[in-house]
Amino acid sequence: MVSRVIPVDPFDLVVFGGTGDLARRKIVPALFRRYCAGQMQPDSRLIGAARSELDSTGYRAMMADAIREHAPGRACEDGTLERFLGMIDYVTLDAQGDAGWARLAGLISEDRVRAFYLSVGPGLFGDIAERLRTHGMVNDRSRIVVEKPFGHDLESARALNRTLAAHFDEGQVYRIDHYLGKETVQNLMAVRFGNVLFEPLWNAQYVDHIQITVAETVGVGGRGEYYDRAGAMRDMMQNHLMQLLCLIAMEPPARFEPDPVRDEKLKVIRALDPVEPHHIVRGQYEALSAEHPGYRAAVGNPRSTTESYVALKVHISNWRWSGTPFYLRTGKRLVARSSVINVVFKDAPHSIFGAEAGRHANILSIRLQPNEGITLHVTIKEPGPGGMRLVEVPLNMSFAEALGPDGEDPPDAYERLIMDVMRGNQTLFMRGDEVEAAWAWVDPIIAGWRKRGDVPKPYESGSTGPLDADQLMKRDKREWRGIKP
Ligand code: NAP
Repeated sequence: MVSRVIPVDPFDLVVFGGTGDLARRKIVPALFRRYCAGQMQPDSRLIGAARSELDSTGYRAMMADAIREHAPGRACEDGTLERFLGMIDYVTLDAQGDAGWARLAGLISEDRVRAFYLSVGPGLFGDIAERLRTHGMVNDRSRIVVEKPFGHDLESARALNRTLAAHFDEGQVYRIDHYLGKETVQNLMAVRFGNVLFEPLWNAQYVDHIQITVAETVGVGGRGEYYDRAGAMRDMMQNHLMQLLCLIAMEPPARFEPDPVRDEKLKVIRALDPVEPHHIVRGQYEALSAEHPGYRAAVGNPRSTTESYVALKVHISNWRWSGTPFYLRTGKRLVARSSVINVVFKDAPHSIFGAEAGRHANILSIRLQPNEGITLHVTIKEPGPGGMRLVEVPLNMSFAEALGPDGEDPPDAYERLIMDVMRGNQTLFMRGDEVEAAWAWVDPIIAGWRKRGDVPKPYESGSTGPLDADQLMKRDKREWRGIKP
């Protein structure tokens, strides 16, 4: 099954921070893949902008290395990389200075979509937006793309929203949460709203609880300074897990369009109960070996009380979900890399087979990574003689297998999202009020930790996290599913 590719009208994309890690690892390789797929048309333009003194030839060489490293082995005929590089320019400029801006303005075409990707720290958003306006680069075909972290708390998120609103309409602002660009995350909506099978059961009457796990094997790596100021709550829970929770819990939007979808997500966030202090567990990973130091050594802060793991239980106070808890957890240096959502259904109301046959709840597992796919766990009779004993078996659908040998790799989240920017489709981007509502829920949790002098529980690197997180489930006679080595 080969996917249909609809070319996107030629565009100009300016990447501020064009020499940075995100541009080299994600943005430019994603564009290259879309070019190879025939979606990015040859007269589109990519302009890198940063302070480094480079000419366009030097920048193209830097991007060629990035593509070879981060988009290897693509089905791309000879000469394609060279043709792609021919679409690239570079401008040396300082976001806070004057030089270079007039040259950038001269490179932008008049008659097409112009997107400005702010792949720089949020402290530069205002400077860049202001200079784009004063150099005449903002018109109704302009779009602005911003990355996480979108603020550090509600106040800073509001300030960023105000800064952007001073220069752009909300309809021009694309706040990226790359989780929303993942194929399986979009499939979550297809499964929920494209089938009659699940939606009638998708409520507190039939769903016992829902678990969302985003487990990483990596530690904080080179992001120690940033991470120690953020922690798992700000870095992962406030954005990625919150977005997954919204898509799982929201009401069916009237249409798969930006505002109907984002209105429903916003209602979920606003219906979240505050989290009780005993319904949340924070953890910090310990050293595994000399090469894998513990969290505090990794961030260079021996007294750090920042969490590299958080698990919590939360309720949504609305008709659909009242009484069904949602358990969310995310952490670093865990036993396996695994992002999975488990919808655990209630037991059948009465067992006709008797207690000795056993009982198994239906579980719908939605795997975001690795091995993207969906598994429905159903109960059948254990094969063979010996009476009626029930066993749980998986009805497994791996997207890679389902798409067959001719299937292409699903596009990386950035490929999808950047093309959506160019098409002007904001459905998979966060609206300003959503981000603020998420901070309004997170801020009191973090303030509570500070007030109580909360210290995260240590957990072994390579484990499933702190034991207290297991207790969070066991107290409710439930257990986590989903992290497998
Ligand atoms: P980075 O590697 O530090 O790159 C920063 C870029 O900004 C460089 O190109 C730098 O180039 C440029 N820059 C810095 N100050 C500038 C100025 N005054 N004027 C113009 N350009 C300036 O950072 P990154 O990892 O690419 O991250 C960029 C943004 O994306 C950050 O906000 C980060 O939080 C966010 N983000 C990154 C990732 C990721 O995987 N890397 C993931 C999610 C979000 P010069 O020094 O040459 O000016």
